[in-house]
Amino acid sequence: MNHPTSGQPELLVLRPLMPAQMEQLEQAFQLHRYDLAEDPEALLHEVGGRIRGVVTSGAPGFQAAMLPRLPALEIVSTSSVGTDSIAVAACKEKGIHVTNTPDVLNDDVADLAIGLVLNALRRLGDGHEYVRSGQWSQRGMMPLGRSLKGKRMGIVGLGRIGLEIAKRAEAMKMDILYTSRNRKDVPYPYYATPVELAANCDILMLACPGGADTRHLINAQVLDALHPEAWVINISRGSVVDEEALINALQRKSIGGAGLDVFENEPHIDTRFQQLDNVILFPHHASGTTETRSAMSQLVVDNLKAHFRGEPLLTPL
Ligand code: NAP
Repeated sequence: MNHPTSGQPELLVLRPLMPAQMEQLEQAFQLHRYDLAEDPEALLHEVGGRIRGVVTSGAPGFQAAMLPRLPALEIVSTSSVGTDSIAVAACKEKGIHVTNTPDVLNDDVADLAIGLVLNALRRLGDGHEYVRSGQWSQRGMMPLGRSLKGKRMGIVGLGRIGLEIAKRAEAMKMDILYTSRNRKDVPYPYYATPVELAANCDILMLACPGGADTRHLINAQVLDALHPEAWVINISRGSVVDEEALINALQRKSIGGAGLDVFENEPHIDTRFQQLDNVILFPHHASGTTETRSAMSQLVVDNLKAHFRGEPLLTPL
C-alpha cells in the first residue's frame, strides 16, 4: 500500500498502536509500516518525501538522523510520556510538532512501582517460589520480610507519576520525602540532592525523566549514601542509574536490593543482573496493561487527527 492513491495524509509507523487504534489510523490515514518493512531503507526511499506524520513509542523513539529523509514531516506522535528517545529539539527547530501521552499511564505505573516495593519488602517472588518448589512443606516457614509501614520512601522526581506513587505509599503508611529540580507545594520534606535524599530513606524511588540531564543521576555517591537494607526502585529510565555502580553495590550487598523495570540496554540487559539474588527484574512494563496501552494509543490517534484537522493538539510538548 505504498502508492499515494487516497489523498489521505501519509504516516510512517515505526511502532504500531493497539489494534483498535490501528484500525482508526487505517481509516483516516495512509499508513506505511516501517516496522514491518522487509527493506526499511527502500521504503523510506520510496515514500519518505510524502510522509507527514510519524507514529512511534519510547522504543524505537525517533532519531534526528531520520529528519532529512522526511522533508514533509509535520508531526511525531509517540505512545509514551518519556521523550528521551525522541529528537524533540531537532523536530522543534524544523517546526515539527511532537506529542506524547502524559497522565493516562500514571496510575498503572504508580501501581507497578508499589508492586515492586511490596515484592522487595514482603518477598512476593520468593514466597511464590517457596510454595511452588515444595520448600514450604519441607522447611516450614519462609524467612521473614519487612513492613512497609513506617518506612521512608524517597522519591526522585515528584511529577505526575511520582505524586501518584506518593499517594499510594501514604496509604500504606509510609513516610514520603522527595527531591526534584524545584520544590513542590506538598507536605513532604524536600531534599536538594539525591545524595541527601538517599541518606534519609529506606526506599529510593526513581520517577524522573531519562535523557542527558538525568544521566547517571544515581551514581556511586548516591548509592553509598543508602543504608545496607535500603532498596532502589527504578520505574523511570535505565539511563538515570549508573548500572556499573549499582551492580557493584548489589554484589557487595552495601544496599538491600534493587527493583528494576528499566535498564540501560533494553532488552539486552547486563547479564550480571540475572546472577544476583537481591534484585527484582521486570521487562519495562510498568504501563503494560490493556487499558493503559489503549488509552495511550487513543491519545496518539486523537493528536494526529487534531493536527490534520487543523485543531489544537491535545498533548503537545
Ligand atoms: P513529569 O510529570 O514531568 O515529572 C518528572 C519529575 O522529575 C518532575 O518532578 C521533575 O522536577 C523531576 N526531574 C526532572 N529532572 C530532574 C532532575 N535532574 N533531578 C531531579 N528531579 C528531576 O513526568 P512523569 O509523567 O511523572 O514521568 C516521569 C518519567 O517516568 C517519564 O519521563 C518516563 O521516563 C518514566 N516512565 C516510565 C514508564 C515505565 O514503563 N517504566 C512509564 C511511564 C513513564 P521538576 O518538576 O522540579 O522539574
